[in-house]
Amino acid sequence: MSTKKYFGNWGGSFIPEALHETFRQLDIAYRQIRNDPAFWEEYMSLMSTYSCRPTPLTYAENLSNHFGGAQIYIKREDLNHTGAHKANNVMGQGLLVKRMGKTRVIAETGAGQHGIATATMAAKFGFECTVYMGEEDVQRQRPNVFWMEKMGTTVVPVKDGSKTLKDAINEAFRDWVTNMDTTHYVFGTACGPAPFPEMVSWLQSIIGQEAAEQIVRQHGKLPTRIYACVGGGSNSLGIFQRFLDEEQTELVGVEAGGHGLDSGQHAARLCGDDASAGVAQGYKTMFLQNDDGQMLDTHSVSAGLDYIGVSPILADLWEKKAVRFEAATDDEVIEALDLTMRMEGIIPALESAHAFVQAFKEASEMAKDEAIIINMSGRGDKDIFTIAHAYGDPSWKEFIIDRAEQYRK
Ligand SMILES: *Cc1c(COP(=O)(O)O)cnc(C)c1O
Repeated sequence: MSTKKYFGNWGGSFIPEALHETFRQLDIAYRQIRNDPAFWEEYMSLMSTYSCRPTPLTYAENLSNHFGGAQIYIKREDLNHTGAHKANNVMGQGLLVKRMGKTRVIAETGAGQHGIATATMAAKFGFECTVYMGEEDVQRQRPNVFWMEKMGTTVVPVKDGSKTLKDAINEAFRDWVTNMDTTHYVFGTACGPAPFPEMVSWLQSIIGQEAAEQIVRQHGKLPTRIYACVGGGSNSLGIFQRFLDEEQTELVGVEAGGHGLDSGQHAARLCGDDASAGVAQGYKTMFLQNDDGQMLDTHSVSAGLDYIGVSPILADLWEKKAVRFEAATDDEVIEALDLTMRMEGIIPALESAHAFVQAFKEASEMAKDEAIIINMSGRGDKDIFTIAHAYGDPSWKEFIIDRAEQYRK
């Protein structure tokens, strides 16, 4: 059996002729690990020793009391190695690369988080590693570039187009065409041509499997709602999949509302009406594009949600109304982050804070015996530059200027 290419009207595999054989081999390798219980065991063993699986489900008692409605639980993907759910995907694909006998990995990265995760995986498995990153992003994300290089990865700044994520993806595909015999492309989210959407969601499905068991153990029953932020869609699908057939659980995906859905400065593809169906980067989904199919510039306070496309699996669930989509604005995100830090001593990533926003809007209207789960996709300390700037913190500004002056001496 080969992998499902379409999810309703979405997905597919629109790839250059030269990559057909590579994709065929990848598909076969993916089918093999999918049907091999020993693979999942090896994956779990790796994730429980190199990362932090199972990640805890934290009862947020203070936030629950504050809103006075549903009991709020937080799934702690921030406690993974490198601080986000991305480790689940990357380590799984690392094991796949070993099985395929390849020796080199490449990846695209926007904010740098997927690049860092891939660099750690390559270092651990002894693969050669090249990460493509838009030139703009290389400049904006210097700390991540620093760590990737220190772990032995070559970071290539991409000078094409808008010099951001979508250009990095195109460049990575070009590399793959040239080096497919030795190289695997570690795609970072549940997008792109088949089998990536299905494969990445499968590797991330561990989140929901754990969460279902944990919420029943800790709360006595399944949750009424689950909230997750939506960039490409991997952390949301990771927690949602297990609950798709659970009638009592509503799934809520939260996109980047940026400066507001009417502002034209956001990254909302499935809510609002700025996106339209199209084919780009190897697959069909809802893209933020103009009438000529030119991709639009997106905006979000969180670099990880700032993407023009979205998982074809989510586009299908959106069309079938199996997942509800909402958007959170930049300002709402900072507010939710502030409350979570103060009340729980937990610092969500700016991406994850989008899910917190929507949960906070709805929690107080729910009954006290109901539970909700917020998927905390990552930790926020990586965002200190953006968050400190958003707070307008004067002593932070002084610190940065001070540091710069030390270097000038
Ligand atoms: C990359 C990232 C995201 C967005 O990616 P998805 O594929 O939508 O999960 C969300 N949160 C964090 C912390 C990330 O690093």
